[in-house]
Order: sequence, then C-alpha cells, then structure tokens
Amino acid sequence: MNSKTLLEKAVSILAGSNNTVVVTGAGISTEAGIPDFRGEKGIYRTLGEDRVMRIINIDAFHRQPEVFWDFYRRYFDFPPVEPSLAHKTLADMESKGFIRGIVTQNIDGLHEKAGNRNVIAVHGTADRFICTNHKCRRVYEAEYVRDFPQIVPACSACGGVIKPDVVLFGEAIQNYMDARQLILEAKVLVVIGSSLTVYPLAGFVKEFSSFYQDLIIINKGPTHLDHAALVKIEVENTTGEILQEINRQLQILKR
Ligand code: NAD
Repeated sequence: MNSKTLLEKAVSILAGSNNTVVVTGAGISTEAGIPDFRGEKGIYRTLGEDRVMRIINIDAFHRQPEVFWDFYRRYFDFPPVEPSLAHKTLADMESKGFIRGIVTQNIDGLHEKAGNRNVIAVHGTADRFICTNHKCRRVYEAEYVRDFPQIVPACSACGGVIKPDVVLFGEAIQNYMDARQLILEAKVLVVIGSSLTVYPLAGFVKEFSSFYQDLIIINKGPTHLDHAALVKIEVENTTGEILQEINRQLQILKR
C-alpha cells in the first residue's frame, strides 16, 4: 500500500472511533529539537546503552550521586524548545474530540505545553525535582537545580539530596494503573514515535493489540509491534505533516 492509501485507511479507522488514545515516545519530540536516545544523535549511540543504563539508574543515584548528577547535567538538560507541529496537532485533535488522551514516555512536558489536557506521563517530568528525604519531599523547579553551586543539589529545608522527578532505570513507572486502563479501554490506539522497546508501556500496547485490532503506528523505522498494526505509517521527520493531514481529513468527515 502506498503512503496516501495508508493515511486514508488510518483516517477511516479514526473516523469510526469515539475512544482514540495516543501513545507517544521520544520520536514525537525530535521534530521539536530534542534527540531521541536510539537515533543517530541519541546518547545510546554516542555513549552506549549500557553506560547510560548503569548511570541513569536508581541504585547509582543513591550510591554515587556525584557521578549521577555530573552525567545528568551534561546529557539530560533538555534545550528549551517549543512544541512541534505534531504536538500542536494532537492538542487540536483532543479539543475537537478526535482523541481522548495521551500516554507518553516523554519527560519534556511538550504535550501539556501544546495544550493537551488529558496527558499521562509515565516517566515523570524533567523540569521538576524532588527532595529524596521521605519526611520532606519538597519540590523544586529547574532553576534552583541549575543555579545550585555544587554538582549534587541539596534541599534548602533539610539538606536532603534532590532527584529529578523522572523515572530512572530500576524504578517503577508513574501512573501505572491509569495508563494501562486508558490504553486498554481505547477503541483505537495510535502509537507515535516509539520503537515500543521500553516496558511496561510497550507491554500495555502489546496487551491491547492481543485483544483488539485497531492499532495504528506512525514511526520512523521499525517497532516491535509493526506486525500487529492495522496500519503502519513510516515517516521521515514528517510526523507533524502526517498528523495535520489526518486531522484535516477527520474534520471534513466528521463535519
Ligand atoms: P523509543 O524507544 O520510544 O524510540 C523512539 C522512536 O522514534 C525510534 O523508533 C525512532 O526511530 C522514532 N523517531 C525518531 N524521529 C521520529 C519522528 N520524527 N517521527 C516519528 N518517529 C520518530 O525512545 P528512545 O529514544 O529509545 O528513548 C528511551 C526512553 O527515554 C523512552 O522512554 C523515551 O521516551 C525517553 N526519552 C524521552 C525524551 C523526551 O522526553 N523528549 C527524549 C529521549 C528519550
């Protein structure tokens, strides 16, 4: 099937759904200027996946906070970017009732910034930081951490070590039940910009696809569930345009 036919097929599936949920991964933010981990400029390629996993790890954080924070400050300080056309289109689609919500692995906050209201971020938020002292748990903004005079930021109230509010390797995801429920209750699931490698989110999508059929995947390169998708749209930094066209056609059909 050529890409025009695939797009039309996706539109007709979406037009028949009153409960469409979107799952997004790092690939939706590359067009906004944030590299993914697995892509050409990604840190899995440049630094090695093993090294990243060894350091961006909850045990490493507790054992050697200086090593963790040195690495985190160097490689995880996302540039201040604006939502891409893809983010903005998803926000418009939610406001028109074409999608019910988004479950994202991303930590960049760009869906919320674009205007989506029902967003479940399972890996946390990069611009939020929390004191790890359980009796304190004071929350800090990025500015406090950035301007802290030492590598390891400490809580101004209790002196506890501060941690980014993101899910590190070895930690449980956030909002597990809500994310799973939103996905499994969907009539149509659209995965955008994820290789579907990272669990448990990839597991929820797999579970969905084993009960239902209406899985649409929009991604650059292969994913682990391409075989289960009704429609797989291969993109080359054109996700924003593809979503815009889908949104345009849905508006005509649902007028
Ligand atoms: P991943 O496994 O979800 O893979 C990203 C996928 O997106 C790849 O298949 C890639 O080919 C595809 N892609 C790249 N550009 C695209 C585009 N323009 N349109 C559509 N697809 C595109 O993610 P990962 O990079 O392996 O990251 C691992 C984990 O780290 C994930 O949880 C991820 O969400 C997180 N992460 C988050 C951010 C962010 O918040 N922006 C950035 C990097 C990594």
